[in-house]
Amino acid sequence: MARRLETYRRKRDFEVTPEPPPEAPAPRDEGPPGFMVHKHHARRLHYDLRLEMGGALASWAVPKGPSYDPAEKRLAVQTEDHPLAYGRFEGRIPDGEYGAGDSLIWDRGTYDTVPPGQAERQREKGHLALEMHGEKLRGRWHLVRTRRSGDGEQWLLFKAKDEVADPAFDVVRERPESVASGRRVTRGPVAARTLRARHPLPMDLLLRVWPPMLATSARPEEVSGDRVLEVKYDGFRALAGLSGGQVSLQSRNGLDLAPRFPAVAGALGRLVVGEAVVDGEIVAFDRAGVSRFQLLQGSGGRLRYVLFDLLWHEGEDLRGRPLEERQELLASLLADAPETLALAEPVAGTVAESLDRARREGLEGIVAKRRASRYQGGRGRDWLKVKVAGAQEVAVVGFTPITTGEKAIGALLVAVREGRGYRYAGKVGTGYTQAARRELFRRLAPDRVDAPAVADPPRLREARWVRPRLVAQVAFTEWTADGRLRHPSFHGLRDDKRPEDCGRER
Ligand code: MN
Repeated sequence: MARRLETYRRKRDFEVTPEPPPEAPAPRDEGPPGFMVHKHHARRLHYDLRLEMGGALASWAVPKGPSYDPAEKRLAVQTEDHPLAYGRFEGRIPDGEYGAGDSLIWDRGTYDTVPPGQAERQREKGHLALEMHGEKLRGRWHLVRTRRSGDGEQWLLFKAKDEVADPAFDVVRERPESVASGRRVTRGPVAARTLRARHPLPMDLLLRVWPPMLATSARPEEVSGDRVLEVKYDGFRALAGLSGGQVSLQSRNGLDLAPRFPAVAGALGRLVVGEAVVDGEIVAFDRAGVSRFQLLQGSGGRLRYVLFDLLWHEGEDLRGRPLEERQELLASLLADAPETLALAEPVAGTVAESLDRARREGLEGIVAKRRASRYQGGRGRDWLKVKVAGAQEVAVVGFTPITTGEKAIGALLVAVREGRGYRYAGKVGTGYTQAARRELFRRLAPDRVDAPAVADPPRLREARWVRPRLVAQVAFTEWTADGRLRHPSFHGLRDDKRPEDCGRER
């Protein structure tokens, strides 16, 4: 056995590739031997047929894949035997490694020879007569050796003339998906010439796909249609352009976030890709793995760039492609990424179930994205956000000084946008550090104005009104009947948002 898999071992570095080492355990059921076909997007896309025999997987690379037309005899080059555990491998073989590129489990099932139990003998003789019971490959097939030359034995794979033979059925084209994950698109290895080629500046790539797509705030009962649900992250929305090894990291309003989050920019720079634009949220996770906006202010929490979309890839604008394809390519791009770059977490179940989970785990809410939707800049209803925790961005329209006489604020007076003006939303008196109270005073004092920006100012003798310029994020328990925040607390300033964008969230 060890000898059979020696070639397999020699070709791979198991410290680098996620493929199973020869000694990986592979418990199997009794019954007929198994087979699988990998759709392998290596330098050339091909299909690897693997038949279980003698405790390993005998393997053939079929460049064009199998055909249901008995007249189509497909070249099949025998390759090294693979370990049985390979039957469960689906993923990306890292760039620079043997067989680099994505590999999907395109088909799987059981087979036997005709007559049964003759697999090793028939392989030796150079003619396998197969009866396949896969999800895609069914009925009788032949695998016939045409040329013997050591490692690269050539065989032909073709369909026997039986009741399931069908020249009109193009199985490779009509069934592109993985039978394990449903994934459809694959990404080949990144060629050295792609990396070396001239690429635009990363900022120019970002401008080609600008502006970002925004979610509309919705109530749970408004979420209709076929949608995929994702965790809603509480951090800074950021798009990154990667081009020729350079990185640009921008907030929604065009703020350069790279100097603020050098670890994120550094991790992006290590991705092996010629050109890409990714979309996501820079967050800090608490110990429970929940993103907390407050943690981004300091150095507490685990910093991550959680990615949920891929808008541009190797010269191709992906925005017109269905959501799922963009997500599959993104997952492939992140297969070997540093841990600072994470993939957004899908949420299983119905909207009600996932909101329950969000409440239990203390998440901000969920985002419901319409299946097969395109990426369209600006706000629309293909992406809906449903919040559970009361989190609200508010315009700072004033403050009250602290009663100790220090140059520090006691509370912020905040408002939300309504029509062309602002509506007063309450007084936020908790959630500050002493340093934050002084810093806010320092920033707000020069903005003082005589008349409040809100149409309905409260009667507060100590109120100091300011021109709305800063945006604060606050947490609160509920809206009161007169449109005020109940029990609000300060979570930080948001310099990625404008005061005029602070509408009341539902
Ligand atoms: Mn292969």
